[in-house]
Amino acid sequence: MSLPQIDHTHQASTTSWVESSNGHSDFPVQNLPFGVFSRAGGAAQLGVAIGDYILDLAGAARAQLLPGVNASRLMGSNLNTLMAFAPEQRLTLRHTVFDLLTDEQHRAATMPHLMPAEACELHLPAAIGDYTDFYVGIHHANNVGALFRPDNPLLPNYKYVPIGYHGRASSIRPSGIPVRRPNGQRKMPEQDAPLFGPATRLDYEVELGVWIGRGNTLGEPIAIGDAGRHIAGFCLLNDWSARDFQAWEYQPLGPFLAKNFQSTISPWVISPEALAPFRIAQPARPQGDPAPLPYLLDATDQTVGALAITLSARISTAKMRDEGRAPHRLSESAASNMYWTAAQIVTHHASNGCDLNPGDLLGTGTISAPSVDGYGSLLEISNGGKTPIALPSGETRTFLEDGDEILLTATAQAEGFISIGFGECRAIVVPAS
Ligand code: MN
Repeated sequence: MSLPQIDHTHQASTTSWVESSNGHSDFPVQNLPFGVFSRAGGAAQLGVAIGDYILDLAGAARAQLLPGVNASRLMGSNLNTLMAFAPEQRLTLRHTVFDLLTDEQHRAATMPHLMPAEACELHLPAAIGDYTDFYVGIHHANNVGALFRPDNPLLPNYKYVPIGYHGRASSIRPSGIPVRRPNGQRKMPEQDAPLFGPATRLDYEVELGVWIGRGNTLGEPIAIGDAGRHIAGFCLLNDWSARDFQAWEYQPLGPFLAKNFQSTISPWVISPEALAPFRIAQPARPQGDPAPLPYLLDATDQTVGALAITLSARISTAKMRDEGRAPHRLSESAASNMYWTAAQIVTHHASNGCDLNPGDLLGTGTISAPSVDGYGSLLEISNGGKTPIALPSGETRTFLEDGDEILLTATAQAEGFISIGFGECRAIVVPAS
């Protein structure tokens, strides 16, 4: 497996002439994530986040500031074309943008193409053809399984098959778009018959999203050693879930309306090249676990296929905002709690010949840590709704109430390198219609 290498764009000592990027918690010049933005009333266009600004890629290309990059491929209103780049082409673009933003001699010519981020609206980065959600967070799978099957939380397939289900692409929204409490069918154990109405057990899930880059032809699988070349980047994903609907509808075919009313993603695409310094070994499987089947096993992927990313979830209730309180942290976890790597879920998805396309999105599943301060959903934190959590405002929660806002953030960290962030993945719950 060939993966992006650490190069001059990762040097901790390098700064940008865009001063706000130096020391920026999310978007220093070592990050350079791709996204889609618009200015008031304007058309959606491609951009790169740098500190408190967004570089207008098309504008920079038209002004001949991106030599060696085919400008016509940067003119669209989504990243699908760019996502289809070979990794080498994406690397060239990264190097060119890095040079533009670090070399003082480009400052004057580039300034007109820098937009203040606060004056811009961010959009979905891609036209998402298909969305699949996996279940690779093993502690989440254990916790949720234990709620339903205390003696046998993990089903026998879990350690052989990266479990997933086909989600719904149409209802994915970028950070900032409110999520409406869904109506649906639920039947609590004490009830004789189901009811239809607003969800009473609305929850969030902390996940990473994996953007598919180059696709594969129908019928032609992706070898595990090539999977990295089909990944265009990563984002945060909140897989909003109505647990009451889910419990009633999930058998025998899995999640359906409990999950597809909305999913929220962070709008910036963190490239595999930006993440090169943050690759770590996939944690060894516990003693007695089976090795991955050969089609999912690659020595390089096992050595550097995991990512040193911490993920946080915070809540802010209407009362907390009224009282001027900061959001309250619900959990902090690490991407190393994934039982399968990003490459393994890509390869597994295509292993039957299913074709993946540029702009497809794969969710990892909820990434919980082993202890309660790292649980990535209220279902786990409240132990199935049995143990309310206390908030600084004096309020308690088992599940989400109208007016609650969930904010997900993530940071990639490694000794000797500048940390990079994912930006925000936030949405506020509004009442059911
Ligand atoms: Mn999920």
